[in-house]
Amino acid sequence: MSHAPFRIDLRNLPTEGKDISGTLTPAFFELSETDDIKAISPVTYELNVLRDGKDLLVTGSLDATFELTCGRCLQRFQQHVEMDDYQTEIPFEDASSTIDLTEPIREDILLALPSYPRCEDGNVEPRECPAQGKFEMATDESAPDESAEAPAPGVWNVLDQLKNR
Ligand SMILES: [Zn+2]
Repeated sequence: MSHAPFRIDLRNLPTEGKDISGTLTPAFFELSETDDIKAISPVTYELNVLRDGKDLLVTGSLDATFELTCGRCLQRFQQHVEMDDYQTEIPFEDASSTIDLTEPIREDILLALPSYPRCEDGNVEPRECPAQGKFEMATDESAPDESAEAPAPGVWNVLDQLKNR
């Protein structure tokens, strides 16, 4: 599903670019009830779209709030994503086509979520993880560094599912 404000018709795009701003409902993310990640606020966007040769240059800010599951205590917590210096380039072949920013923007926001959600890192309602310290064995120095691994299945599952929908 694409969202009208994010469909950019290159033929109607002024040389100096175009500003688009507004909000979209959480349904923008097309997350399902069973996903670990739940969008709980509208998406706010304030973007400039500019044609730069064979690329569409998108800059500006995005924000949205999500509910995630803490990987330690398995409780739900909220995480606010705020991207003030958002920038993406979308290459195109056909200068008379319409480019849909829906998918790249959706993916970029979801990828800004923590790979290893921890409720004590939540930036909406600060708290201490009730399970903190209970799993020290799993995080001692002999264990591989979590941050060096691929992102947790949560984010990638969701992205895969979106692609298959
Ligand atoms: Zn926790």
